[in-house]
Amino acid sequence: MKWSEEAQKALEKVPFFVRRMAKKAIEEMAKKEGKQEVDIDIFNKAKEKYLGIINKKEDVINIAIVRCNIVSETCPGVGCLKAFNDRRVHFEKYRDKKVELIGFFTCGGCSGRRVHRLVQTLKNYDLHIVHLASCMLFEGDYPKCPFKELIKKDIETQEVEVVEGTHH
Ligand code: SF4
Repeated sequence: MKWSEEAQKALEKVPFFVRRMAKKAIEEMAKKEGKQEVDIDIFNKAKEKYLGIINKKEDVINIAIVRCNIVSETCPGVGCLKAFNDRRVHFEKYRDKKVELIGFFTCGGCSGRRVHRLVQTLKNYDLHIVHLASCMLFEGDYPKCPFKELIKKDIETQEVEVVEGTHH
């Protein structure tokens, strides 16, 4: 089946491990609706139905937290999560806003190798802001992250805002 350029570009953003399956399901939906081509409307309809991605939550701010892989060996992440749940410290500014935490993951180890791919995947879920966890910023039992600027730049080049800090 033919795909419009816009729909094709949108398909390329679907995570590779579900892309083939998604393509088949979208084409089946298009056929059922008597379409000769997959356009962006049918793509979005299928995306909402099969992937649970709803594009209409425009008033919701979607957030993810990236934390240090080394520190995660000893930290279950409770400080970050409690600060988010209570909208404290770096999450205080969301107090009167609708916010959802849609990702909480470690960087994957120096030099933050997982961050690019996971941010890319979360962009399919309308990720708006990534918080760099406090463990990446401060010296303590562990040294502060020497790759922080690199990680931050990588996220920003994907057009996602970065906030430094979570619960400190
Ligand atoms: S890249 Fe930074 S945040 Fe990730 S494990 Fe290394 S020191 Fe920790």
